[in-house]
Amino acid sequence: MSQPREMVRAVEVASFGCRLNLVESEAMRRAAECAGRENLVIVNTCAVTGEAVRQARQTIRRIRRERPSAEIVVTGCAAEIDPWQFSQMPEVSRVLGNAHKSDAAAWASLQPAPPQSIMDAAGPLHIPAEGVEDHTRAFLAVQTGCDHRCTFCIIPFARGPSRSSPAEAILASVRRLTDQGFREIVLTGVDLTSYGQDLGDIRLGGLVKAILKAAPDLERLRLSSIDCIEADADLFAAFAEEPRLAPHLHLSLQAGDDMILKRMKRRHLRADAVRLCADLKRLRPDIVFGADLIAGFPTETDAMFENTARLIEDCGLAYLHVFPFSPRPGTPAAKMPAVAPALVKQRAGRLRLAGETALARHHATKIGATVRVLTERGGFGRAADFTLVKTEGAAPAQMLDIRIARDDGKSVSGAVLPGGRPARAEGAFAALV
Ligand code: SF4
Repeated sequence: MSQPREMVRAVEVASFGCRLNLVESEAMRRAAECAGRENLVIVNTCAVTGEAVRQARQTIRRIRRERPSAEIVVTGCAAEIDPWQFSQMPEVSRVLGNAHKSDAAAWASLQPAPPQSIMDAAGPLHIPAEGVEDHTRAFLAVQTGCDHRCTFCIIPFARGPSRSSPAEAILASVRRLTDQGFREIVLTGVDLTSYGQDLGDIRLGGLVKAILKAAPDLERLRLSSIDCIEADADLFAAFAEEPRLAPHLHLSLQAGDDMILKRMKRRHLRADAVRLCADLKRLRPDIVFGADLIAGFPTETDAMFENTARLIEDCGLAYLHVFPFSPRPGTPAAKMPAVAPALVKQRAGRLRLAGETALARHHATKIGATVRVLTERGGFGRAADFTLVKTEGAAPAQMLDIRIARDDGKSVSGAVLPGGRPARAEGAFAALV
């Protein structure tokens, strides 16, 4: 779970959780700054695990100690699900629900916003797309909310029904971001594959194709996490035909046992996940998969867990996000017969170890190969298939060709070959070079 990112400014943001929160945090900070707000700290919370909520409360206390006079506004999924737990904290000035957080008006006014449940949210999504501070890649929120009801998940009650941004608004954002010099755009949302279902005339695959057609200068388009059973035909075609669509897909698999998938109320079975990966690998041989897996879901037996562990190889996964099951109050899974905490921990440990082996297997395929890397801050960059590559001393936002020689565990490294493409020192990127 990512630690809060803080920026020392008139308006500070501590952002927890997913990329969608990161994009919204940036939009809220800019809206509050544009409204001339001063000495304001926004805490954008996450509700995916109990640990995320605990860290947000801990951060709020620390910020109050460090900034006794600041106004502290708490928003985000944990605040939407249980506003009381934050409004009761003496450190907190105001709690703002998810329904209002992207409204510029909410940041111009000092008055509490009228209470509105996110479950009543309707209409197209609009989150201003600006590059996130010191990020080389631009995250573009195209969808929010979720109409599914996985039994372990609290997100639909924090984000409301699925809503999409109109395609023309997204294309305008893409043009603006490429004009600003962004070389990679990452499409993000809560349930990305439900993009367009509320708009009627377009799905995720169609959007991907439209973006790549409208932005010939965009070097890379990447998708954040998707639901494997809802990939549409155009998306398959885009992976087969569009070299600028990054050959990397993070799948929300959660488990590899059909009984557990049923009890999770997931819409796919084990065979569907294996087939999707095989089909995409056939269409795009260089594609690399990551996945979310939950360890210790209630009622999970040893045999069921082994089915999940074997999925890593059966799907050819390279990147794993492992979540020890964390009961979320208000979800059906929280009432199911739990697996002993020690066993949950042990199984999560085994999956993480298997994840390291899978990553090493992926890195081994890179040794001796030349990969094109988009450099970021902090001495690392990403290849198109999301391989993490060491780029010590290289300025951010460059496309470098690197001959890979070593596997350093979490990343690989090698020699920079002449001929890479330097950063395009224009717009927002001038400051980064
Ligand atoms: S698809 Fe399931 S896991 Fe994902 S946000 Fe919706 S309910 Fe949660």
